[in-house]
Amino acid sequence: MDAGKKVAEKIGRMPRVRLTRLPTPLEELSSLSKMFDGPRMFIKRDDLTGMMFSGNKARKAEFLLGDAQEREADVILTTGSPNSNHTRVITAGARKLGMGSILFVKGSRPKEYTGNLLLNAIFGAEIRFVGVKPYSKIQKEMEKEAKALEKKGRKPYVIPVGGANAIGATGYVNALFELHEQTEEMGITLDHIVHCSGTGGTQSGLLYGAKVLETKTKVIAISDGTPKEELIADAKRLVGDLSDLFGVKVVLNRDDLIVDDDIKYIGKGYGIPSKEGIDVIKLLAMNEGILLDPVYSSKAMVGMIDLIWKGAFERDENVVFLHTGGAPAIFSFGDEIWR
Ligand SMILES: *Cc1c(COP(=O)(O)O)cnc(C)c1O
Repeated sequence: MDAGKKVAEKIGRMPRVRLTRLPTPLEELSSLSKMFDGPRMFIKRDDLTGMMFSGNKARKAEFLLGDAQEREADVILTTGSPNSNHTRVITAGARKLGMGSILFVKGSRPKEYTGNLLLNAIFGAEIRFVGVKPYSKIQKEMEKEAKALEKKGRKPYVIPVGGANAIGATGYVNALFELHEQTEEMGITLDHIVHCSGTGGTQSGLLYGAKVLETKTKVIAISDGTPKEELIADAKRLVGDLSDLFGVKVVLNRDDLIVDDDIKYIGKGYGIPSKEGIDVIKLLAMNEGILLDPVYSSKAMVGMIDLIWKGAFERDENVVFLHTGGAPAIFSFGDEIWR
């Protein structure tokens, strides 16, 4: 049996809860393609995964919460920034399954709850502000808390930041298969995927999927502000973990792991909207009727447009922008976006 089939069959047998409405649409960015007179541009609408403001974390959550449910968990412990899309999706999904969530939020309590933090509060998450420290440290704190909860008879399930482990990344192996099928149906080749990366989960899943299908698809990750070396190391580790999970080994070549953290794309860093990012939010809104977010997808779109200008793609190639979602953050940055 070929590798792609073997992985797809294993995914089919994994515990999974249905939170999404798949497949998400693959649409052509016709106005933008004309405007830049470069490759044909498409957009994979994972801003429409269908679950409570959607985004990429919903695909991961289906497998993570499926595993939690299989283990009869009653409370999920996870972490992220105050505006984390991941914590919002996990909290809402957990509620649907009758579980609670405890969120270890990086930073301190803001004056006002907006965006995903507000949504998490509405869903009744237990929100703990743990200060600014590395996620590796927060992970240890969550594991310690999980042990304490077990002693009290609870059944905790710990999920790392961004849902970035092999189980979560499986959502994006599946997404690559979905995208491959859609491009085949449309009669086009899937030459490049451009997306925003923050923990390596999405990138590793896409890359692993592309490799097991033996496609030539290039996966280009634009950093959300996280240093490039960190994202490369994370994605590499996760591709190894996916190889172990599925028993299908993928060997990466040196040029497979493409991560760009150009200062022109990421601006002042993670969570800080950039002028260029805000400009492309308006560009996409006014020309395609599509909303990008100020923290992730707009920065990746700045990167994609810059790469087109630099001639990184051939005119006869197809470039798919993966819209990873993030809409709730729009409302937290009104002053920056509209002035
Ligand atoms: C989390 C997130 C990303 C980054 O995805 P990773 O799999 O963590 O790299 C990109 N865009 C949005 C909107 C996100 O919420």
